[in-house]
Amino acid sequence: MTMKKGKIAVLAGDGIGPEVMREAIKVLRAAESRYGLRLDLTEAPVGWAGIDAEGHALPEKTLALCRQADAILFGSVGLPQRDASLPKEQRPERASLLRLRREFGLYANLRPVKLYPALAHICPLRPERQGEGIDILVIRELTAGLYFGNPKMTEEIVEILQERGKPLRFQRAVDSMVTTTPEIERIAHVAFQAAKTRRRKVTSIDKANVLENGVLWRDVVSQVGRGYPDIALEHMFVDNGAMQMILRPAQFDVLLCENTFGDILSDEAAALAGSLGLLPSASLGQGKGPTVFGLYEPAGGTAPDIAGRNLANPIAQILSAALMLRHSFGQEEAAAGIERAVVSVLENGVRTRDLLGPGERGGRAAGTNEMGDAIAAALAAL
Ligand code: NAD
Repeated sequence: MTMKKGKIAVLAGDGIGPEVMREAIKVLRAAESRYGLRLDLTEAPVGWAGIDAEGHALPEKTLALCRQADAILFGSVGLPQRDASLPKEQRPERASLLRLRREFGLYANLRPVKLYPALAHICPLRPERQGEGIDILVIRELTAGLYFGNPKMTEEIVEILQERGKPLRFQRAVDSMVTTTPEIERIAHVAFQAAKTRRRKVTSIDKANVLENGVLWRDVVSQVGRGYPDIALEHMFVDNGAMQMILRPAQFDVLLCENTFGDILSDEAAALAGSLGLLPSASLGQGKGPTVFGLYEPAGGTAPDIAGRNLANPIAQILSAALMLRHSFGQEEAAAGIERAVVSVLENGVRTRDLLGPGERGGRAAGTNEMGDAIAAALAAL
């Protein structure tokens, strides 16, 4: 399918970032020839790589590149031992990733979690709990709610006379949870639209029995849902949702969550896939057409424990690139092709170290580059 040249800012970052990014680029190049895509990939430093090269975790030149791009393919940033030397606001995650989210209004976070049948043995759930298969798309609101309210720490002195007549001094922390109707509406539309291309079910998560935010959330999601009569909508309290995720994960298709609940439940869902190295994510902004600007990155971090040793699993980064082709470039065929290539490589038994089951630990695992080679070859052969 022909397309105008897609401009992609490639920010590999730190730790395993550059290693897994190399493989994602390899697979994108294979997708270019297989599907006739035209991609303009430009790399720039971010995180500690940005600090070392330009003195800032998000150098001006990197930000300028992102502003000219149609999408950002992001690796991961931060190195715990070095992060501790910086004040909080200068640390790589905050200074680069959170800044990019704000700068581009990335309000919708999509985290698909799939248990591949070939990897059922690394799922922490017993086979009978895995049901007919786990395939969940967690959609998390990313720019409102508790994480964006007003945090406040105060020290108060309360003149409560105690037995010895001394006033009681204590600290008080306040975080406010603020959500508005338009913010709920737009994320709800993302969920219902996504459900149309899947199994046509949205489970909306809230705490409407306790929080006013939950009452508004449930109300607005129900209203938006009336515009999608062919999508089944159910509401679930977050505590029950956390439990159901373990008891019967196969019941979920699209899981629509407020920011904080989505943060927690997406990690819980991630655990079901068996390895962080498998999980991609997309953070999307508002767009008019069928494609939107987005930032695409693996769910995991820089994995300093395995960095530089050709051990990291590049699948999360490669699948993030597939999400990018789908959401920012409208290249569904190429995106689905990459996803099929990943499945076929896993079915052929190629395994990085994190994918080895308990009985396979002694076996030889594929290196990061071998996994990338195998997926690129499988794509070319589709
Ligand atoms: P982590 O996700 O980097 O690692 C957790 C565990 O998962 C490790 O054992 C690691 O080896 C494993 N793992 C992660 N990705 C893997 C992959 N692709 N293949 C195989 N195994 C993989 O989390 P952490 O150790 O808590 O954090 C390390 C650094 O990453 C910290 O500085 C943290 O701030 C940063 N971080 C960055 C992002 C981001 O850039 N979006 C996200 C999370 C953490």
